[in-house]
Amino acid sequence: MYREIAEKLQGWCTAKCRGFPWREKRDPYVILVTEFLLQRTKAENVAKIFEKFFSKYRTIRELASASPEELRGFFSELGLLYRGERLLEIAKAIVERHRGEVPCNMESLLKMKGVGVYIASAVMNFACGVPTPVVDKNVLRVLNRVFGASRESECREIISRLYRYGDNVLIAFALIDLGATVCVEPPRCGECPLNEICAKHPLRKEEWRMYRKVLRGERVFLEEQPVS
Ligand code: SF4
Repeated sequence: MYREIAEKLQGWCTAKCRGFPWREKRDPYVILVTEFLLQRTKAENVAKIFEKFFSKYRTIRELASASPEELRGFFSELGLLYRGERLLEIAKAIVERHRGEVPCNMESLLKMKGVGVYIASAVMNFACGVPTPVVDKNVLRVLNRVFGASRESECREIISRLYRYGDNVLIAFALIDLGATVCVEPPRCGECPLNEICAKHPLRKEEWRMYRKVLRGERVFLEEQPVS
């Protein structure tokens, strides 16, 4: 079942995932800064300044040398002025503590002020080549509807299993985009690649209620087992 879901997600992402410029990049610096900017900001707004920002600040050292006033110019376009100073702090910390290289290490990333689990996971997964679950509230909603997962730890476990059957970058993008564009409220199940296996889908609801019990290792009586 995990294999089937992973394959469906990958196929859907190849055809339908959003084409933001940072999704082509595998540079930890670009991913760290972009994910920092994306926090509580529309992706479309970050896309507007992406090229300009990374043409001006090509490396973490160039960013660390910027003045707060300069950065304010960029962040005023996003309407979040405080981010310039926080980003400057992160850039300086990386230059001082990591010789100007964004560390591909969860622990080191999380030690930076302003870098939480989501950003650190995104850097690890999208730039460092280390399959790492990336869970935001949209992903949580998708996995809640499909698997009945209600906690982030459950989601991380599910995504780790999905990664075993496919490309961790594509699967992560698929879950993020599915949650942002299709599995919304109300969900547009007709457009969803998981609509034949989703617990939320009315026709599959009862079957999946039982299947989830199996996945969780709960006892299921023979007459309750899903029809294959
Ligand atoms: S089938 Fe509907 S509820 Fe289930 S994941 Fe897809 S959009 Fe969400």
